[in-house]
Amino acid sequence: MNLHEFQARALLQGAGIPVPDADVASTPDEAARIAQRIGGPVVVKAQVHAGGRGKAGGVRLAKDAAEARERAGQIIGMTIKGLRVNQVLVAPAAEIASESYVGIIVDRASQRAVLMVSPAGGVDIEEVAATTPEKIFRVAIDPRYGLLPHQAMAMAFRLYRGVEPARQAATIMRQLYDVFWRAGASLVEINPLITTPGGQVVALDAKLVVDDNELERRPEIAALRDTTAEAPAEVQAREAGLSYIKLDGRVGCCVNGAGLAMATMDLVKYYGGEPANFLDIGGSSNPQKVVTALQIITADPNVKSILFNIFGGITRCDDVANGIVTATGQLALDRPLVIRLTGTNEELAVKILEDAGFSALTDMDDAVRRAVELAREAA
Ligand code: GDP
Ligand code: MN
Repeated sequence: MNLHEFQARALLQGAGIPVPDADVASTPDEAARIAQRIGGPVVVKAQVHAGGRGKAGGVRLAKDAAEARERAGQIIGMTIKGLRVNQVLVAPAAEIASESYVGIIVDRASQRAVLMVSPAGGVDIEEVAATTPEKIFRVAIDPRYGLLPHQAMAMAFRLYRGVEPARQAATIMRQLYDVFWRAGASLVEINPLITTPGGQVVALDAKLVVDDNELERRPEIAALRDTTAEAPAEVQAREAGLSYIKLDGRVGCCVNGAGLAMATMDLVKYYGGEPANFLDIGGSSNPQKVVTALQIITADPNVKSILFNIFGGITRCDDVANGIVTATGQLALDRPLVIRLTGTNEELAVKILEDAGFSALTDMDDAVRRAVELAREAA
């Protein structure tokens, strides 16, 4: 789950990290009032679950309240990476002497949280990693001890020569690990972490992604979810108990089981296609889940063919077949469907589908190849 910048800033502040006081607004007038209260120049920032807001025009400076109103008017309602901006953050404009990057991610290779820092801050860390990887420094954190003072200090000296800013940065890194740990985060980032002309080290931006599996025991974090800021298809999928991730290809995939879904995507690629999504309808599939799954898949205009790949274990093939028949009745499906099912109640499922005018395959290779072909023909 993604948090908004203003939510992440509050968590950072709660841990003692210096973050300029700011507020959120949903209208230009509100933005002007906040700017008035702050006094002096402000920065107006789009609150969306997307990075690179600066480049997209979603972060703008304003010299006074009137200009803040104007900037907010431009930013609220704009779309960044497909997401509509509903709110802006209004913060005092900071004077920047230097920008660096500090982040903590879960790293599979070391099976640890890893602190990453870079003196090349303010730009996308992915870009730094691609072009100047030697400017990124890492240290793995042992969960038994947390980020130790000497580790933080060593990383801080990768950012600053002076002892004063390094001390401040080291403290911030340890506070950041505290936030990371307490929120059940999979990623937390300050980019940029700045120094002011006066030598203060301050967090100007905050990004925090919470591991969904950590939400159940952290109701106060779970309550921060903003469904209006999430992709509608992903909200619909989550509410229906489906795991759905949108991708950019043309073959819509509807599969039961995460492993089979991954194998299906691999095979789509193997036969020269690109999956339009990952979708796991889960174990005991009632027909309604299949209906919702088809609604979500067909709402994506990139989808040119739809592939069902069902292995009936706990999932009964006849339930899925009934779902397909119900859904196609409701949806007036305008794209070709390839159905492969095998396992529990397979014969019954085939009969249900054939009675409704569909055919079903049992071989996974045949089905995937056919779906890729159909998507290509539609191109
Ligand atoms: P992002 O592009 O989504 O990561 O948004 P950021 O909050 O990181 O803002 C992008 C860039 O805008 C930063 O790297 C800064 O260079 C600049 N910026 C953000 N806030 C301020 C500010 O208060 N003062 C100044 N001068 N620049 C700012
Ligand atoms: Mn940033």
